[in-house]
Amino acid sequence: MSEDSTIFEQIAAGEIPARIVHETETILAFLDANPLAPGHTLIIPKEAYTKIGDLPDDVAAELWASAQSLTPTIETAVSADATTVGINNGSAAGQEVPHVHIHIIPRFDDDGGGPIHAVAGTRPELSDSELDDIAANIESADNIWTALGSSPEALAS
Ligand code: AMP
Repeated sequence: MSEDSTIFEQIAAGEIPARIVHETETILAFLDANPLAPGHTLIIPKEAYTKIGDLPDDVAAELWASAQSLTPTIETAVSADATTVGINNGSAAGQEVPHVHIHIIPRFDDDGGGPIHAVAGTRPELSDSELDDIAANIESADNIWTALGSSPEALAS
């Protein structure tokens, strides 16, 4: 393991302990060491990728499938009323460990928390034409990558 390996790579390699709740050849789920709620779980790919756009399709599919199947299991295990499921995707979004991880955070009626809308800063005032431009930019970029059968991340790797 390289010196700059993340703490999650070390957990995946069995070098440091974690409370593992689910494991396959590709992914690992374990309890967050500083839980925001009982049952707060992290799901990671065992191989290190920093952001979700870096994930190979098959790993992304298995990661999401695990989140989908584990989430109701976690809710039941801790008698949660709901869950917030999220990814801090890059340091500006608050990602502290640069290894993709999905947070499954159990939520309870009256737990005092907020919705996912609470995570961003000041809301921008965007006109209809600005919204149209943004949508067109995203759509045309997506069309280019679809036509090329690739993605910016795939080309960069
Ligand atoms: P993020 O800010 O999205 O990168 O979240 C990183 C998460 O990893 C935080 O919720 C930490 O509490 C959690 N964490 C850090 N170290 C460990 C560890 N050794 N075992 C389990 N969770 C950890």
